[in-house]
Amino acid sequence: MSETLRSDVLISGGGLVGQTLALALAHHGLTSRIVDPADPLATIAPGFDGRASAIASATWQMFGVLGLADRLAGHGCPIHAIKVSDGGQKGELDFVTAPEDRALGTMIENRQLRLALADAIADASLVSRHMPAKVTRRDIDGHGVTLTLADGTRLAAPLLIVAEGRRSPTRDATGFSIANWSYHHHAMIGAVAHEKPHGGVAHEIFFPSGPFALLPLVDDAEGRHRSAFVWTVAEKDGPGFAKLGDRGFTAELEKRAGGLLGSMELVAPRMTYPLGFHHSARIVGDRVVLVGDAAHGIHPIAGQGLNLGLRDAAALAEVLVDGARLGLDLGDAALLARYQRWRGLDSLMVSLATDGLTRLFGIPGRTASAVRRAGLGAVQRLPALKRFFMDEARGEAGDLPRLLAGTEI
Ligand SMILES: Cc1cc2nc3c(=O)[nH]c(=O)nc-3n(C[C@H](O)[C@H](O)[C@H](O)COP(=O)(O)OP(=O)(O)OC[C@H]3O[C@@H](n4cnc5c(N)ncnc54)[C@H](O)[C@@H]3O)c2cc1C
Repeated sequence: MSETLRSDVLISGGGLVGQTLALALAHHGLTSRIVDPADPLATIAPGFDGRASAIASATWQMFGVLGLADRLAGHGCPIHAIKVSDGGQKGELDFVTAPEDRALGTMIENRQLRLALADAIADASLVSRHMPAKVTRRDIDGHGVTLTLADGTRLAAPLLIVAEGRRSPTRDATGFSIANWSYHHHAMIGAVAHEKPHGGVAHEIFFPSGPFALLPLVDDAEGRHRSAFVWTVAEKDGPGFAKLGDRGFTAELEKRAGGLLGSMELVAPRMTYPLGFHHSARIVGDRVVLVGDAAHGIHPIAGQGLNLGLRDAAALAEVLVDGARLGLDLGDAALLARYQRWRGLDSLMVSLATDGLTRLFGIPGRTASAVRRAGLGAVQRLPALKRFFMDEARGEAGDLPRLLAGTEI
């Protein structure tokens, strides 16, 4: 029988959240082993993940501490303003930063983030990746967790962290129950080059058929201005739009953008994602914890899903590093209860707020539209409320883990 490889934690799922968490732990002296059935080269190939993410400024601070911000130099586009409108009509709400103020967030193409993480993990001697690898057996008892891989390798640790994304099989097999529903919407995503500069402005335009977002990216090597789009349509309309040729699709994009960025050209393959909500109220079990999309999945309307997951990673890293310094068992129920208290409520509040927003802006009709515009106008006129929303967008509200405040644990 092959020997058992031991580490401080095991991480099942090497997506954006699982890898960032491994780096955060390694940065503070804790060892981890990541297990994932995906081929690591496939996950950084062009076309694997065509999304771009709005990284809140607090999350960017953690990237600074972990050395990811340096690796991403030149790829991040600061968001200086967010403009929100109901169907492109007047009564607009905008969040604009003062010239001396920090950006609201940074737009990064997910592929660049995956490349930066892969490089950082390769340099992190305390992180081992078992990819592609399949777990054939999982044993959890009062002393720890052992995973047996298809090639017979056995991995053991006091704690298993589940970062397997939305359809996490380990979450489902270890007794976590989730609330979930479909929005019956599809998000079509991609990137365009466009005529006019975006000026670091993100546009969120709410149509009754679903929200449409234009998010600023850095110019390409030829100096062409670029933006990512997230265009949400009803499930039944998704296949029709998917069938449109590039020219027809671009014409539809330009129509929705209402001339904001001038003429457009697709510069990345379009992809479609079904949109749903899921949430696990309990994120801690016997020697098992959930992070990222394994714990919660929300509508991309406010660009918060990955930020929420990285906030889980920052909080869990802090709980574990503090516990290790005190010499505690990292799978100890009392230690993990701190993570449950810290992240359980915060992620529920953000998830419910995003769900409410999705529903509010999905109500058709002129009366509903008038109410929404009145609401946007009211926030626009109240500086304190605007500041509150700007702090939320920056990810700076609430009880911040130290990494998100830009400091070591
Ligand atoms: C259209 C769209 C736009 C978005 N835009 C934004 C945005 O602007 N800002 C933002 O903050 N968020 C955004 N999000 C949300 C964000 O993309 C997700 O929250 C984030 O990718 C979740 O990361 P994760 O690591 O938890 O899960 P995933 O990225 O899903 O990674 C899960 C990993 O687990 C692995 N895995 C699966 N099964 C197993 C198994 N059995 N064993 C081991 N490993 C397994 C997978 O191979 C994968 O590597 C968007 C989402 C969508 C759909």
